[in-house]
Amino acid sequence: MSKIVFFCIPAHGHTNPTLGVVKELVKQGHEVWYYSYSPFREKIEAAGAKFIACDDYDTEQKLEPKDAERVGKDLAFSTKILVDTTLALDDMVCRDMTELKPDCIVADSMAVWGKAVALKLNIPFVSSTTTFAFNQHSAKIMKQSIGQLFGMIFSMPKINKNLKRLQDKGYPVKNILDIIQNDNETNTIVYTSPEFQPCSETFSDKYTFVGPSIRPVTEDIKKEKDKLVYISMGTVMNNCLEFYKNCISALGNTGYQIIMSVGNLVDIDDLGTIPENISVSNFVDQIAVLNKADVFLSHCGMNSVNESLYYQVPLVMYPQTTEQEGVSARVSQLGAGIRLEKISPDTIRAAVEQVLETPSYHENAAAISEGFKRCSGAKGAADKIIRLCK
Ligand code: UDP
Repeated sequence: MSKIVFFCIPAHGHTNPTLGVVKELVKQGHEVWYYSYSPFREKIEAAGAKFIACDDYDTEQKLEPKDAERVGKDLAFSTKILVDTTLALDDMVCRDMTELKPDCIVADSMAVWGKAVALKLNIPFVSSTTTFAFNQHSAKIMKQSIGQLFGMIFSMPKINKNLKRLQDKGYPVKNILDIIQNDNETNTIVYTSPEFQPCSETFSDKYTFVGPSIRPVTEDIKKEKDKLVYISMGTVMNNCLEFYKNCISALGNTGYQIIMSVGNLVDIDDLGTIPENISVSNFVDQIAVLNKADVFLSHCGMNSVNESLYYQVPLVMYPQTTEQEGVSARVSQLGAGIRLEKISPDTIRAAVEQVLETPSYHENAAAISEGFKRCSGAKGAADKIIRLCK
């Protein structure tokens, strides 16, 4: 039986898809350790892994809100955060790995400390990618902006300084891209289908498109009207009070049932009077809602979109980040949803009506769903990991 170690960043969207894989590995009799953060302990343990908290070592968690916004936009700054976290975890993780001698490390593509320690200690490594896989072909749809590219070139001296800090601690990285980007040589699990991944034919056979890992439906949501509209901006950048108010104006007192999840940063009282056909919560069981929904108004986080399409629910899309723009562009390209260009009660209502009244959006979502169901899923991911164990 093998010993597998997972590393992840503190985000539901990056953690959830791995949990099915953990369960499958445990079911097959393997032992799994999972390095993550306290808010995720319960679900990681429920999946059957031993949880190890990284909270005390994480610099990202202690960022000021204004700094947190720079992560993802400013490459030199993001690299510094990733290097700081890797170095902060270095003693603990290297000691644990030397003692444990895992047969394989599986790390989220953003939890670069997992890949770094696998390189340093020469442990077989698998990258876990919860977004689309990235290469020069798929980049065209992901549209990395010219501004970001210039930022990257001009910030190189700063990046190289951070690289030196890793090298001094024994990490054999020649280029920062060695840890922050996967190439055709890195064994990679991608949680979507080859049909949904843009340009999937341009990736090597080290890439396995296992399809989304969808949690089972455990709760029954009551459908009160013929059409159910679900609204959520995800769990990270969901502080969108004005947007939620516009949705309430657009869809309140209509013949639709609306379920809206607003996250923990918005005070529901600030939304004003909520019409009878709308229910607002800080968090819902999204799978249970999608199982009954007819359209999803989403920020286009990769998991939300995978889950929506799996349940054949077409989308109205309001992306907030470059990555979400890419996901939204792919859904539009495949005809399974439309993008909201401007936000107003009229544009929101019109987009929702268009998707509900045009059968092709649902049909195209159903075709993508079929592709997802053909994938090898958590079992395929677990089998790949086991094949790579030493
Ligand atoms: N989610 C949920 N209930 C909510 C909002 C989100 O269960 O009220 C789950 C959702 O099912 C998905 C994850 O949180 O698995 C959000 O991931 P995504 O990649 O869509 O967006 P992020 O939160 O990372 O921006």
